[in-house]
Amino acid sequence: MAKQKKAKTIGELKKAGYRPVSIREEMRRNLIAALKKGQKIFPGIIGFDDTVIPQIINAVISGQDIIFLGERGQAKSRIMRLMVNLLDEEIPVIKGCEINDDPFNPICRACREMIEKEGDDTEIVWMPRSERYGEKLATPDIAINDLIGDVDPIKVAEGRYLSDELTIHYGLIPRANRGIFCINELPDLPERLQVGLFNLMEEGDVQIRGYRIRLPLDVLLVASANPEDYTNRGRIITPLKDRYGAQVKTHYPTTIEDEITIVEAERRQFSDDDLECYVPRYMKEIIAEITHLARSSSDINQRSGVSVRTSIANYETVLSNAIRRAVTIGEKVAIPRISDLPYIQASTGGKIELESFEETKEDKVISDLTRRAVLKVFNRYYDIDEFQGIINQFNGGFSVETSDTRPAKAYISIAREMIGLTDMTNRVVDSERPEELAAAMEFAFEGLHLNKKLNKSRSGDKTIYGK
Ligand SMILES: [Zn+2]
Repeated sequence: MAKQKKAKTIGELKKAGYRPVSIREEMRRNLIAALKKGQKIFPGIIGFDDTVIPQIINAVISGQDIIFLGERGQAKSRIMRLMVNLLDEEIPVIKGCEINDDPFNPICRACREMIEKEGDDTEIVWMPRSERYGEKLATPDIAINDLIGDVDPIKVAEGRYLSDELTIHYGLIPRANRGIFCINELPDLPERLQVGLFNLMEEGDVQIRGYRIRLPLDVLLVASANPEDYTNRGRIITPLKDRYGAQVKTHYPTTIEDEITIVEAERRQFSDDDLECYVPRYMKEIIAEITHLARSSSDINQRSGVSVRTSIANYETVLSNAIRRAVTIGEKVAIPRISDLPYIQASTGGKIELESFEETKEDKVISDLTRRAVLKVFNRYYDIDEFQGIINQFNGGFSVETSDTRPAKAYISIAREMIGLTDMTNRVVDSERPEELAAAMEFAFEGLHLNKKLNKSRSGDKTIYGK
């Protein structure tokens, strides 16, 4: 809007033909324009194109407040923050106003008095959309003055009356006027605050220290909640629940493919890496599969959910263990393999909640999930019957030793000795790098073991596969 010569006063703004609109009209107008141009509305959000995003679009077109229902780690916060992109790049506000007053329709007394005195010379500033988003995590100890406001004792001491709105110190929501305000974990908001919030949004007035104050704010309210808390009777007062026009249910990635895409986009990357890293496709699938299996495991508390962050952290961990190996023994490329998987205990442990409270059980749950994931992915790549020749060699007395510290070169001699092995590993390797071959061999041996074709024993940090 009028970028070439930005208005600096109310008079200039009038001359430029500025017409104020409510936040709902503004978002709706910009959304429809973006849809017409075929723009991606929520860039970087994966797997929600046919489920969550159409519902958000409908809610914005309807001008509805939105509550997002979902377990942890379902990109709820990210989506809510991205809604800022539907706002104008900048809007004019009265200079110095604490609640971003519209120059043509000021709410606060201070602005109204200023305009009475200065008229068209009243100064305005342009507020970028990045500043028009506020959020707060609801906790039982949150107070009304945090959210809505309080009487400022200094202003009272200056001789103002308590009922005078000039004595208010505004809270987070009034400060988000003409913007988006998000309350995370809404059911945890104490009931009297829910009442205050409802009155503010619905009636445009608030009670502060017993005084009723008019505050017709223009705020789009979004919130997030765990579905179980939300449906729990009494956790949210009914009128507030009704106030949210749209309930949008989020979900975890439905496919392994989406899970991997998110992991690759979100994992921590370092620019100082001069060591080459490569993660085989089947290892990515195993990491994603562990999380997917965890989301349907009866040992794990599904109310808390299993975030995509579990996949991300596990991916980082196995890659780091491969880097540790490569650097320690002087290999050229870091490639994660099956023997790196036990290290995900550290990155999975904090991200799942067990149904039972036995401390020792966690390790077992995680290693069971890992085994099931490897088996599933192995059987996706291979038909066990194809390995009959290799199994025969093991039955004839062949055995192999693997470990996460064993150099890849040591695996090459095994591949040379065992007839038909490279025919199988070639199916999952892209290069002749020994590190890649070592990883593919571990995948094959573990797959045979999990299909009950090979025994596996441990000796120190070594794993021995054999008859
Ligand atoms: Zn104002």
